[in-house]
Amino acid sequence: MNVTSSTNDASDTPPSTITLDVGGQKFKTLLSTLTSESGYFHSLFSGRWAGTPTEGESYFIDADPDTFKHLLRYMRRPGVFPLFWSKSSGFDYSMYKRLEHEASFFQIDELSAWIKRQGYLDEIQLQIGMPLEQSINLIAPKTIKGNEEIDHHFFLESRNVYLCPRRIHIHRGHPEKCGAACRKVQGDAAVEYEEEQSVRVVVTSKTFQFNN
Ligand SMILES: [Zn+2]
Repeated sequence: MNVTSSTNDASDTPPSTITLDVGGQKFKTLLSTLTSESGYFHSLFSGRWAGTPTEGESYFIDADPDTFKHLLRYMRRPGVFPLFWSKSSGFDYSMYKRLEHEASFFQIDELSAWIKRQGYLDEIQLQIGMPLEQSINLIAPKTIKGNEEIDHHFFLESRNVYLCPRRIHIHRGHPEKCGAACRKVQGDAAVEYEEEQSVRVVVTSKTFQFNN
């Protein structure tokens, strides 16, 4: 039998790599990865009360493996905080809540504090562009970057347009163009207007940026 693990030894020196059985899922890592970031593992493997090995050489930890893998990822690269965010649904708050709970349990203080103060909100910046009016005729296919979003907002507008009493087309909408002949036809009659509908297009843009 190949016994490379010292976990069954009477000695207080644990092996440099360790296999954790977290809720049925195995994770192999360096012992120093666990003990340098987690107060829980530091105590567990400090020799004072080294955990009891189960199923051969793995330590059983009763925790959710899906959440634990994020803890382990963090412990392996401390300072690289997890980003649970997607453009369509935003931040995954329930995931952060779960992770914060587990980080507190395993005493990974920096991670737990970062989630508590919602440090992840600073990781994503949303730049809102100036709304721009655009002629509907100028809407054309466009290539944008993966972190950009462009929305077109359409407004149906109606306005009253001045009508020349002589119905001269180029005077339409321009009472100042009507001359004496037009005013003569107008006489004392009320000025006529015609309702005209138009589509106003307002373009808004958003750009997401990661702050790493
Ligand atoms: Zn006129």
